[in-house]
This record gives sequence, C-alpha cells and structure tokens, in this order.
Amino acid sequence: MTELGKKKIIIAIDGYSSCGKSTVAKEIAKQLGYIFIDSGAMYRAITLDCLRAGRVTNGIVDLAGLQEHLDQIRINFIFNPATLHNDICLNGENVELEIRQLEVAQNVSQVAAIGVVRRFLVAQQQEMGKSKGIVMDGRDIGTVVFPKAELKIFMTADPRIRAQRRYDEMVAKNEAVDFEEILSNITARDRFDENREESPLRRAEDAILLDNSHLTREEQFSWILEKVEEKVKNSCP
Ligand code: C5P
Repeated sequence: MTELGKKKIIIAIDGYSSCGKSTVAKEIAKQLGYIFIDSGAMYRAITLDCLRAGRVTNGIVDLAGLQEHLDQIRINFIFNPATLHNDICLNGENVELEIRQLEVAQNVSQVAAIGVVRRFLVAQQQEMGKSKGIVMDGRDIGTVVFPKAELKIFMTADPRIRAQRRYDEMVAKNEAVDFEEILSNITARDRFDENREESPLRRAEDAILLDNSHLTREEQFSWILEKVEEKVKNSCP
C-alpha cells in the first residue's frame, strides 16, 4: 500500500463562493479513497427547509420558528450510483438538485449566519471526521470545524471568472440565467460570509492559498495532490 493509502488525514478546503471547491475536493477524495463532505450543501438543505416552511423570506429568517424546529431536521448523505457521488437528503428526501436553485443561494448566507444553525451542523461535521480520511469543503472548515486538520487550503479566484464558470455550468443544464445576477449573488454571499459575527469566512493562518483564476481542473488537482503527499509524509501515523 502507498504512503497515501496508509495514513489518513483531514483535508479542509475553504474559500470564496463558486471557486470550484467541491469539484476538486470530490476528485481528491475519490483518488485517495476518502469521504467527501460538501458542508455548504448542509447549510443549503436547512435553507430549503426554511423556504418550504416559510421561515425565510427575502433573507429575513424567523429565528424563533427555526430554533424550535431545528432538532427535527435530519440531514444525511446517500451514495448516488448514477453520478458516483453522495447526494444530500433532507428528512429522507434527496434534495441535491433543489438546493442548487438560485432562491436557496439568495437566502443561504442569512441562514448560515445564525449561531444555533452553525452549532447544529458543526457538531455533525466533526462527528463525520472522527476517523479522518475526509475532505470537507466550506467556509469555516480549517478555522472552526477541524482547526487541527493536517492540510488546509484556501481557494480564491477573480469574481468575474467564478461567475462565468457558474453561468456556463447553468447554461449547460439549460437553466435560464443572467450573468449579472449570478455575479451579484456570488459577491453578496462573499461579503456576507466574511462580515458575519459567527465563524466568518477567513483564511486560517496555516492554510495554503490557491488562486485558481487561471488554472485548469487538472492543474489544481495535481497541485493539491502534491500538498497531500507532503502532509502525509510528515504526519504522525
Ligand atoms: O459552498 P456553498 O456555496 O454551497 O455554500 C453556500 C453558503 O453556505 C455559503 O455562501 C455560506 O453562506 C454557507 N456556508 C457556511 N459555512 C460552510 C459552508 C457554507 O457558512 N462551512
């Protein structure tokens, strides 16, 4: 067995919206035989639950209602044999597609800024990483969820390039989208995530910066794999 296969580490990938964090995290996890967790999907699932129940409208959250209902929200991931990835389930229902809709994106940062929501999800995320061998992406993975993660990466890219990638993805799925609306959602979420009181989006001091504005997926992937090899070599068994 190779060194990479023998020692399991925690890989935390944080960064700005629509940087392609999940895409590289998924690929790295597949290559290493690690679990991949998209923590943003968990915040999106709670937001979807709030939208359906009328507990969030135009970014205004009914805090008391949400707090009372929170312990009835069950979130888990199930393997999708068609895509070979894990889909997110909300109370037993697969909501992987629904959570990617613009209405969810327009309300998720407000829901994710609430302390009780963060504590509820961070506890579940920490439990998932107990046996290591995990790649998790989000905004607070290296700072709050796994502050002792062996490898921390902070991803960024030019906002217009990020918006263009997201736009192309949505057009490829035949979704009716407007470039300026996507750009404005991305920049608004970044601003909100960076300025909130609870676990703001920050680059952990020991996180390595990856600006992927002009990198292909393959280039990003081999860059990260190189860092993983270094960390595995230097980590305790
Ligand atoms: O990663 P994604 O863009 O799907 O995340 C959606 C939103 O969830 C982010 O804009 C952020 O507000 C919130 N989030 C968070 N902490 C995380 C992951 C996501 O606050 N660890």
